[in-house]
Amino acid sequence: MNESKPQSMSSFWMPFTNNRDFKAHPRLLVSAEGMYYKDVDGNAILDGTAGLWCVPCGHAQPKIVAAVSEMVGQLDFAPTFQMGHPAAFDLAEQLMEYTDHKFGHVFYTNSGSEAVDTALKIALAYHKARGEGGRTRLIGRERGYHGVGFGGLSVGGIGPNRKNFGPLLPGVDHLPHTHNLLKNAFSRGEPDFGVELADELERIVALHDPSTIAAVIIEPVSGSTGVLVPPKGYLKRLREITSKHGILLIFDEVITGFGRLTTPFAADYFDVEPDMITTAKGITNGTVPMGAVFSKQFIHDAFMDAPPGIELAHGYTYSGHPLACAAGLATLEVFKEQGVLENAKAIQPYWEDAVHSLRGLPHVIDIRTIGLVAGIELEPIAGKPGARAFAAFKKAFADGILIRVTGDIIALSPPLVLEKKHIDELFGKLADVLRNLD
Ligand code: PMP
Repeated sequence: MNESKPQSMSSFWMPFTNNRDFKAHPRLLVSAEGMYYKDVDGNAILDGTAGLWCVPCGHAQPKIVAAVSEMVGQLDFAPTFQMGHPAAFDLAEQLMEYTDHKFGHVFYTNSGSEAVDTALKIALAYHKARGEGGRTRLIGRERGYHGVGFGGLSVGGIGPNRKNFGPLLPGVDHLPHTHNLLKNAFSRGEPDFGVELADELERIVALHDPSTIAAVIIEPVSGSTGVLVPPKGYLKRLREITSKHGILLIFDEVITGFGRLTTPFAADYFDVEPDMITTAKGITNGTVPMGAVFSKQFIHDAFMDAPPGIELAHGYTYSGHPLACAAGLATLEVFKEQGVLENAKAIQPYWEDAVHSLRGLPHVIDIRTIGLVAGIELEPIAGKPGARAFAAFKKAFADGILIRVTGDIIALSPPLVLEKKHIDELFGKLADVLRNLD
């Protein structure tokens, strides 16, 4: 395994990266185990973000490593168009079991973006299959992130991600976001104010007529725009309104799935049942790319009532890739055997107190926590949005902790297997970083 610096960094066009800045100050990871990465200079870096929110069980879990290694030698690839392989079916059964059978079917993708576009397409085709083809409008939310496919971008609500890629999908509306620093600052769990923002959905429905609306998609907790936690009662209200009007409700759980809130999915945490869940990341503990859409039985049934033939003209070469399925099966075993959710639940109060201990440090204007995720919002430098948090990110990496920043918000989402000593190390170092920022 090559643990030395690359010979050249001129050809890799890095995603969502300030490429010019990176090449001047590279950060290169060469190995990972448990709660730590190692960088190319041999430094240990505590993983405060589970990679990119995707390693709930910690790095290099032996069972997952073994399962993937074994599968690559046994069945390196198998199509799932008009044929299949056992692991794809076994994983689907296990995933349904993991959701307590609240969902009936799994459609595999390779990423969260693909899962989102797949769910939107299923929603449109579902209504068409039932003779309600007029339901074509989609509703997302400001500050929502649903990946980078054209469907996900269109329902997403992050201006800088959208602005250079139009025209996006027509017939999309956005609910207002729920971020409210004046009323909800320094919240623990669901903030008190803002349930009425869900009623904006009634306004949009009245504007267009329910018979034109296919689906509402939202992240139960927005991650990539800085950990926006829904106000008390907000998601339940959205569920009531969508059910009343025959509109499908999709929870994008690419980040919140697989234990981030200490429950299997955020839907369990908030006790709300969406019609579809999109997920990815933790499904394979980040080891092999995979995404998935979970759909309620009634959605699948509508397709099975259609005339004979291919029911859904959609899929990817790598849908249900054998390596991803092997990794997924092993990940679910690790969740069970190592009590990953139980650990997350047990350590959550210690984690939450540690995050809120940063209150009062320079530049900190808000802290929000739920489950094992936290957003720490910094006062922006005038005229330079994002610069302060980016400086914190670089300083933190140099000091041996991996944090994530989005705008001027630090987002933390560690592997769920962390222990108190990791929390102490993470927040000890992060407090120093904040104290020494300009
Ligand atoms: N939806 C949400 C809520 C996400 O957080 C992400 C990625 N962070 C995506 C979709 C897109 O996933 P991917 O990067 O795997 O395409």
